[in-house]
Amino acid sequence: MTIEKDRYYIMKRFFAVFSVLLVLLLGGCTPQDVKSALGASNDSSMTSSMALDDKAPLAIHMLNIGQGDAILIRSGKDFSLIDAGDVSESSRHMLMTELDKYGVKELKNIIISHPHADHYGGVIRIAKRIKIDKIYDNGLTNNNRSFHSYQRVIDQKKIPHAVLSEGDVVNLGNGVKFDVLASSDSLKIKPEDLNNSSIVGRLTYKKFSMLFTGDAEREEEAYLTKKYNTKLASTVLKVGHHGSKTSSTNDFLAAVRPTYALISAGVCNQYNLPKPEAMQRVQNAIQKFHKNLNGENTIYRTDEDGTISLYTDGDSLTIKTEKKHRNTLNLERKHYEECKDKNDAVIHFNAIAKKAA
Ligand SMILES: [Zn+2]
Repeated sequence: MTIEKDRYYIMKRFFAVFSVLLVLLLGGCTPQDVKSALGASNDSSMTSSMALDDKAPLAIHMLNIGQGDAILIRSGKDFSLIDAGDVSESSRHMLMTELDKYGVKELKNIIISHPHADHYGGVIRIAKRIKIDKIYDNGLTNNNRSFHSYQRVIDQKKIPHAVLSEGDVVNLGNGVKFDVLASSDSLKIKPEDLNNSSIVGRLTYKKFSMLFTGDAEREEEAYLTKKYNTKLASTVLKVGHHGSKTSSTNDFLAAVRPTYALISAGVCNQYNLPKPEAMQRVQNAIQKFHKNLNGENTIYRTDEDGTISLYTDGDSLTIKTEKKHRNTLNLERKHYEECKDKNDAVIHFNAIAKKAA
């Protein structure tokens, strides 16, 4: 479908509310399930009462891996991963547990948005156990030991590697494609400003679209908004830089007009992400452009929701969360120091210890 058509469908989002009501009436879902039609004018998905599940043609899981990004995409039987979590032992362990949970034996593509440890950190561990067909990154390097290990494992395992530039398209299989809208060659950045070198890509499958932003901040968002404007419009936004206040600017959000927003952040992370002001801007944009949602909270975050799963047939969308989804917009966040015992690493290792006992 064309991007213009996509915008048209997105604007007809009022079907989403009807669909959610229908599913709730039929009692076919738990409270954390949300199903919405992607707004076809002759909305045939309204008649299909069953929520989509892991049998859907396209599944996207924002994995709960602590502080960092790791998004698993299954298109048909092909798995791809956008970013790979952090270098910490807990993050790597959580990542491998999640990949096992979804039965990942081979990754068709890994796309690393930019060379920060919380995005490439799990690649070394993955490469030990899982066949990787191809790794893409933005071609920039980070002069530290863990990044050198990342480069070394690509060489040692002879994993095909390519640098993505603006305009490239990655085939994720079965009609799902990832259009690269920006990469390290798009902006003239200072060497220390790696966030704004992030590969930003728009995934599309029939009427479904999702914008992946890595850790892009206001500078890269401004570039994208100026260059693409309404062509950025997407059903789902992966919120930039874990909900940092230097991302999610109003102009960018007005171009993307997401119906749903996903944030990856660790429980009680030391950066206190996501920031309330960024979340509020995202929520304001969702409310402004999707009045039919009636203020419903459609921001999902891994620190509160656990792994967030999107299932789509390209016509309708079901969102499932590991934990019960709740409105966290005005949640008072405790400072990292006050809730250390609730930190991902501690929770995770307590769970392992309990299992082993
Ligand atoms: Zn990051």
